[in-house]
Amino acid sequence: MNYKRFLVAIIILIIIIGGMYFIGNNNPGNRNNTIEPNGDVNNKVEVTKTDGSEFLMDTLVRLRIHDEQPQQILDETFNKLRYLENIFSKTITESDVSKINSNAGQKAVEVSDDTYKLLEESYQFAEKTNGVFDPTIGPLVSLWGIGTEDQQVPTEEEIQNTLKKVDYRKLELRDDNKVFLKEEGMSIDLGAIAKGFAADYVLNYFNEKDVDSAFINMGGNVSVHRDKTDDTLWSIGIQDPDQTRGSIIAAVEGEDMSVVTSGNYERYFTKDGIRYHHILNPETGYPAREGIISSTVISNNSSYADALSTSFYILRIEKSFEIAKSMEDINIVLVTEDNKAYVSKELKDRIRFTTEELEVIYR
Ligand code: ADP
Ligand code: MG
Repeated sequence: MNYKRFLVAIIILIIIIGGMYFIGNNNPGNRNNTIEPNGDVNNKVEVTKTDGSEFLMDTLVRLRIHDEQPQQILDETFNKLRYLENIFSKTITESDVSKINSNAGQKAVEVSDDTYKLLEESYQFAEKTNGVFDPTIGPLVSLWGIGTEDQQVPTEEEIQNTLKKVDYRKLELRDDNKVFLKEEGMSIDLGAIAKGFAADYVLNYFNEKDVDSAFINMGGNVSVHRDKTDDTLWSIGIQDPDQTRGSIIAAVEGEDMSVVTSGNYERYFTKDGIRYHHILNPETGYPAREGIISSTVISNNSSYADALSTSFYILRIEKSFEIAKSMEDINIVLVTEDNKAYVSKELKDRIRFTTEELEVIYR
């Protein structure tokens, strides 16, 4: 019957169009996608790779996801990073951090679980480093204004007055997520640890979703989830502090790890031949001057790596190694002005130096 044939034709058409729509959705052509096997020839599941980048947390965040649903994971990861930026930023006025800062010396403010957790972690690092890492560094960061239009070398008097407002012991973490800065003019700045916390947050999500493999780069912070899809280890470069972006001094191999570098080559200005950079010593009030030009921490915990790479930039080498060895899975590479690289001996088998210029000393 004509009517029956017509109905069958319509059904077939619907199936074909539906199928095309499904394929199209799975492979949006505008996102740089390539399909590649996931390493196991017997496994029929195809793993797709997606790349994406976005300017967040004051830096260009680059992501690479290998998964059955990479686009979905990528989009959700950027959502999570935007959420974290919106609570941690000190320039976004509705953020948790801004609310704490604008109520300094007045009243306690209730913050989200994530902000509270990050502040607790920051407080612990302040204790561990005797205040060399200090989350209440805000007023000193503003005074120097490094990386902003107002950057300047302040007077000694300005520095001493500002230092009175920097003291993590006046940061109160009360019950029920309530946070209080005891003195007016104090302010929180989480620039030295927030990116690390964000990386951990995202890595957690990748674990939950059982993502096949992923790579996150947030400026000097690189994290990898699992190994590469071909079952080989990732090889992460440590930037050469003497060179323009791109060249490296060494490469570290591993999986499920973060490699975080703090250096004086990204945010600084030069006056009368002196380079003033953005890592400040809360004891002196000046940019750190311990002869270290780049400090890298390799760990499976990214926020630890971030907080410590900043701290080790300021601390003496002996003290940094002492702290690193007292913790689990904290390995370091400290490069000094006089071309030496002090390296945790645990890294010996998985670090390869790509320059002859450095004398490598394992500790
Ligand atoms: P980056 O964020 O550029 O990768 P870092 O992780 O080393 O580098 O963090 C530097 C930032 O941390 C500064 O821009 C400032 O906001 C903040 N900061 C500077 N000095 C200190 C310090 N002594 N303790 C805690 N935070 C600091
Ligand atoms: Mg840091």
